[in-house]
Parts: sequence; structure tokens; C-alpha cells
Amino acid sequence: MFKRVNSIILLIILSLSLWSQTNKNPGNEMPKLVVGVVVDQMRYDFLYRYYDRLGENGLKRLIRDGVNCINTHYNYTPTYTGPGHASIYTGSSPAVHGITSNTWYERNLGRDVYCTEDNTVKGVGSDSRAGLESPRNLKATTITDQLKLATGNRSRVIGVALKDRGSILPAGHSADAAYWYDAETGNFITSTYYRNDLPQWAQDFNALKYSEKYLNSVWETLYPIETYVQSDIDNRLYEEPLKGETLPVFPHKYIPGSKRRYDNIYASPFGSMLTTDFALAALKGENLGRNKVTDFLAISYSSTDYIGHGFGPNSIEAEDAYLRLDKEFEKLFNALDAQVGKGNYLLFLSADHGICDVPGHSEQYKLPGRLIDGKVFWENMNEYLNTLYTPGKYLVKYSSYQYFADFDLLKKNNIAWKDFFNSVRTELLKQDGIAEVIDLHDISNTVYPELFINKIKNGINPKRSGDIFIMLEPGWLSIGKTGTTHGSLYEYDSHVPLIFYGWNLKPREVVSPVNITDIAPTLAALLHILAPSGCIGTAVPEVVVR
Ligand SMILES: [Zn+2]
Repeated sequence: MFKRVNSIILLIILSLSLWSQTNKNPGNEMPKLVVGVVVDQMRYDFLYRYYDRLGENGLKRLIRDGVNCINTHYNYTPTYTGPGHASIYTGSSPAVHGITSNTWYERNLGRDVYCTEDNTVKGVGSDSRAGLESPRNLKATTITDQLKLATGNRSRVIGVALKDRGSILPAGHSADAAYWYDAETGNFITSTYYRNDLPQWAQDFNALKYSEKYLNSVWETLYPIETYVQSDIDNRLYEEPLKGETLPVFPHKYIPGSKRRYDNIYASPFGSMLTTDFALAALKGENLGRNKVTDFLAISYSSTDYIGHGFGPNSIEAEDAYLRLDKEFEKLFNALDAQVGKGNYLLFLSADHGICDVPGHSEQYKLPGRLIDGKVFWENMNEYLNTLYTPGKYLVKYSSYQYFADFDLLKKNNIAWKDFFNSVRTELLKQDGIAEVIDLHDISNTVYPELFINKIKNGINPKRSGDIFIMLEPGWLSIGKTGTTHGSLYEYDSHVPLIFYGWNLKPREVVSPVNITDIAPTLAALLHILAPSGCIGTAVPEVVVR
């Protein structure tokens, strides 16, 4: 009899403990801090490509102990840094949040607009133009804004990155501050949009002159160079040497003497070190994670993008940059454990876009993908149109593989839009490497895979996008003879890492497809707050239901 009662009690205790495990956040328990880590240009495969040489407490810690959404994609094109950061933090796409590119042609203004430009503000910590920045061009709220709204503005929100857009767009409209790197001075700065002076901790950090110290050192590989077997050989003609170098090979030196020598920090692993150190100074200086409510630290690592553009994803430089970034992660996570406490913070890792292989590398290894001369899109097309119609400037602008047409001129010369579009399309399709030319005013009638059509639609904002969209074939790029870039809707640009880690989360691999616009609503669901205003994503069930 006693035995039976005992086993019933045991059963009750067991089911109660199971219930409490699956409902870890039934009330309003909140993490002390949310940390967003975006790595500029980190393609999905980089999570595993260098796995054997990762440390136990860096990236491997996230892969081992986090919820790893291994099938996360960008659900729009163009895949650039501005749109990427905006989409992660707004849970929306360029069609809605308005950040259609890093720089776009704004039809109503008749000029190019940089995504975070703002001439109404002044730099703080700098007199250079680098300070004239704010999130004003972002048309939707961010998850960081929503956290501020949910806590009566008591949450502290700080953004940190070398790139202004990598810091400003994540930190949102109501941030306490976003800090970015000023290549004129080698310092971290902000703008009067946020505050009128640099906090003492930021001034103290700048006074340490890390940039100067780093530029006087040399970038050597972390391990003997012959052990970098996951990459191609060091010296390839299609790699872009650093400024002042003749060959794109190790050891890399930062040639002093040029006027903007602090620029050299961008394409160096020292840029990642500078970013971690400044983020840790912010963590400490702002006492993040020790508030009564949840704080948010948004970090973006920009240097991996510059290194990847110049040397490509198959270079020893890229491999070494990620092995060194892993050490930065370890430093960051250990500091978070110490200040906020293991399990008290919620962290996510993702990227703003991936990267295409260098076309020269594709040629070397007999893979599809080559270079297409930019003249085809602008000079040649304008010439062709002037032979076809009464001479005039029918195309106002070519930008991000899009044409902006002059509809007044077309009307004046009695040219029907459909005829004009067909002329452009037929001419372009004569070229190798062009896959399709799409009428953005009739996109639903385009015969093309639905997945791609939807990605194009999600990227189009009527005030900031063009009229005709050009799709290159996979692997093709229109750039110079060295280096590579991103921006397309293909796997290599759209497939990025996404791992949620910490605060009650248990290790899990999520195989079902996740969109980049699902990150913000997932955070919102975990925090029991409203998702951002323009959100088009949905919370990832495998992360939220534990
Ligand atoms: Zn880039």
C-alpha cells in the first residue's frame, strides 16, 4: 500500500517537474540582458567549416548548447548590410522597413540616399562627416524599440559596430546610443541623435588608442599557414591585396603614411578585437544586465565583410579571420558570464548576408559563375536605347541591379511602358550571365520560380526601388577583376547562421525552414512583448516552446 502511494507521489512530482521544465516562462520572468551578435558576411557553412579548430567556449559553445536553426534564409533580395541588419531587428523586409540597400536612389528626392545618413544631426566624439548618422530612414520599429516601449523606456539599449549601419539599425529609434568607428580618428563615435557627449567610459576607451597599436602590428596566421587545409592557396591573382601591398599574401602589413590610415582597421582581424573590447567597455560602463528590467546589447562584427570582399570565402585570410573571431566570442561570452551570469542572458547569433565565391575561383575550379562587364547595364544600354528611340535619358539611374525609368520622357515620346521594357529585356538577355529581366510593375505575371519572385517582391519599396530588375545567373557578378560581393537571392547570399543561446534554452537543432524575419518575433515571444510594427515573420516554435 505504502509502496503504491509512494509511486503515485513520485509520479506527481515527476510530472510537476516536467511541466515546470516545458513552461519555464509562464509568468513574466525575463532575462537580464539580450545580446544580438551579427557577423557581417558570415555564410551558414562557416559555422562548421572551421569547426575542428574552434575553441570549446566560443562559437562551439553556441553550436553545442544553443537552439541551432540550420535552415535560416534571407527571404528577400538585395542581400546587403543595411537591409540585413534592418530585417533582423524589425522582423520585416525592405518593402516595409524601407532599407532597400546600403545606398538607394530616392525618386521623390531625385538623389542617392545612404541608409543611415542624417544631415540634421552632428557627430559626437568627432567633427568628421562620419558622425552625421541616425536611424531616421528606417520606417518600422525594431525589437530593441519594442523592449523600450514594454518597460517604460527603462531598458537600456546600446548598439556597437565598426560600420555605422551595423550599429544604428539594430539599436533602433529609441536607443540610448549606437556607437560606430570613425576612420578619420580611429575612435568610436555617436551622433547628437542619441546624446550630446561621449560617456566617460567611451572617452576612456578612445584614449587607449587601440587602433594605433593594431596598425603598428602585423597580421600573421594564428597557426602555421600550411595547416589551413580548408582554404585555397594564399597567393591568387583574383584576390585583392590590402592598400599598399603588392601581393595578397601573409603576413599582411598596414602601410602607414596614407591620409586615412585608420581605414586599414576595417579589413583586419583587429577590427573584430576592437569591436569586442568596445562592446565589453559598454557592458561595464552602462552596467548592462544589472538593471531591474531587461537590457539589450546589439553587436555587429564588420571586419569579416571587408576581409571576405577582398580575399573571398575560400581564402586563408577568411579562415584565419573566423578562427580569430572565435577567440573574440570566447572573450565576449566569458565577460557576459561574469557580469550577467550564465543563464541570465539570452543571446542570438546571425549574419546580415552571405557571400558569393570569387568568380576567378569558380573559373579555376570549373564551377559556374563569371564576371559580367558593368558597361552592359549602363553605357551600352543607354546607347542602344538611343538608337531605338528619339535620343534622350530614358533610364535615370542604374543601382543594385535595378533601372529607374523616366516615365515623363517615355510619355512625351509616346513609348508604351511594356514595349520599352521588352526592348530592354530582349537586349539584356543576349548577354552571358543574365538569367532574367523582370518588370517590377508586373512582377506576379513573371514566369519564374515562386520562391525567387517572392524574394524580389519582399525587397521592393515603391519609393526606393526601380522599375526593372535584372537577375544574374548563379555565381555571376558585375565587379572588378579581384575580390567578390553579395546581394543576390541565391543560397550563398541568403543562407546564414541562426543560433539562440542561454536563458533557459536547451540544445536543439531546428531543421524546418526559418526566415530572417522570424528572429525579431521569436525574441518578442520569448520576452512576452509586442513584435516590431512592420513585422512579417513568425516566432520559431522550436525556440519558443521548450
Ligand atoms: Zn559586404
